[in-house]
Amino acid sequence: MPDKISPARRSANMSRIRSKNTRPEMVVRRLLHRLGYRFRLHARELPGKPDVVFRRRRKAIQVHGCFWHRHAGCRDCSVPRSRQEYWLPKFAATVARDERTLTELRAIGWDVLIVWDCETGDLADLEKRLVGFLGAPAQDGLVQGS
Ligand SMILES: [Zn+2]
Repeated sequence: MPDKISPARRSANMSRIRSKNTRPEMVVRRLLHRLGYRFRLHARELPGKPDVVFRRRRKAIQVHGCFWHRHAGCRDCSVPRSRQEYWLPKFAATVARDERTLTELRAIGWDVLIVWDCETGDLADLEKRLVGFLGAPAQDGLVQGS
């Protein structure tokens, strides 16, 4: 598979591995906040510590970097040409962990929306997806800390 991303971009991608408060996550959080949703972050008591949690709605949002979490078909989902013996197992482990997290969350009645890094550029489109997933934000004002 061709190696399509630049070294600078790769190092930016790598620096985001499994870290909290990543750029795309902040985009999502800022938008949710502006829309009037109330949410919690990185809920430790839930499988996979979802990035954004709407407890009362039993809904969670995971914001995934396309490189590490292997966004299928995405231009940012290339495989480095060198050291594939290093990368491929790492990718496989990340994807397996993501699938396990999804399965576990759904098993205890949670809905999960995956937002990919490359989907955070178009805010109008992102807003539509978030509202479609969560429902209208207005009712959030009635319950504190949901
Ligand atoms: Zn992507």
